Amino acid sequence: MIPMVDVRQQQQLLKSEIEPKILAALDNSQFILGPNVTAFEQEAADYLGVKHAIGVANGTDALHLALLAAGVGGNDEVITTAFTFIATAEAISYTGAKIRFADIDNKTFNLDLAAVERLINPKTKAILAVHLFGQPAAIIALKALCDKHNIVLIEDCAQSFGATVEGLQTGSFGLAGCFSFFPSKNLSCYGDGGLLTTDDDDFAADVKSLRNHGSKIRYQHHKIGYNSRLDELQAVVLRVKLKHLDGFNKNRQKAAHNYSTSLKNLDIITPFEDQIGSHIYHQYTILSDKRDEIIEALSKNNIASAIYYPIPLHQQEVYREQTRNLSLPIAEDVSKKCLSLPIFPELTDAQIEQIITTIKTLY
Ligand SMILES: *Cc1c(COP(=O)(O)O)cnc(C)c1O
Repeated sequence: MIPMVDVRQQQQLLKSEIEPKILAALDNSQFILGPNVTAFEQEAADYLGVKHAIGVANGTDALHLALLAAGVGGNDEVITTAFTFIATAEAISYTGAKIRFADIDNKTFNLDLAAVERLINPKTKAILAVHLFGQPAAIIALKALCDKHNIVLIEDCAQSFGATVEGLQTGSFGLAGCFSFFPSKNLSCYGDGGLLTTDDDDFAADVKSLRNHGSKIRYQHHKIGYNSRLDELQAVVLRVKLKHLDGFNKNRQKAAHNYSTSLKNLDIITPFEDQIGSHIYHQYTILSDKRDEIIEALSKNNIASAIYYPIPLHQQEVYREQTRNLSLPIAEDVSKKCLSLPIFPELTDAQIEQIITTIKTLY
């Protein structure tokens, strides 16, 4: 059996490093915003090249709190991509703002710049850009567009921890970067976890208050906040895994290049890479007209595959009413042809070979 991601292997690999540190944290017993959370926040900020990194309960909360701290509310519009995980859009919906879904670029599967620009109007408060599958969005151009129109840029980096654009980390371009440590992400913990980055001191102070019941001074509450803190034990895991992240991401890239070289001459579109950014392959996603046949052949050989994402968000039941008649042809087309193949740092050459051989039988 070849799974999409093998979380257990990474735990086996890092067990001897992680477990004594978990036991030490248990003995120390500072479970809420303890020393490991503080240390991880500093280590993550250093890695990402940002002034502040703030641990929160999960990636969805990171997005929600970022939008709130940016002042997004009921009378605003936020532009985002229709081709992403639902959490990106949910976070906007929590604020009461109206979502304007934009179509995507057919090579990167990220926001199409011209499509975004067409949606900008006086109600536009923010652009929420996703670095989907670990491929950086056109973040420099999006930043310029936001600056020109005086709009806030927020980055959904749930799938892009470690990806860079012109040498700078995703999550360091917008007012805020939002990360998830869900167990299948490139940097992951052993449950839920999230992180919010920013270079803005006031914004950081607001987020810290929002994650902790709207309190800046203990038992003084200046606004309605939330209980959304990164867990101390998860911070222990993250501190260990952060040190291995570059190696893990390199392994993913190696696996991806191995796939792309072998699939090159088939009638399959392999992931695009440009010279400006680094794709860290949270997913290895191809486009094929024979998607169903590939899934079936892989499955017969005990190989997993997955469709991320089968329905673009403007066509999801929850959003259909708001987006009636909206047509986003590229997102719709990609969602019909996309297929993600197994990718994780421990995937072996032999496993990749087996997957490719299986796909080749169909061509
Ligand atoms: C995983 C993910 C999220 C949500 O993160 P959670 O930690 O699961 O809440 C948000 N956006 C994208 C693009 C994701 O992949």
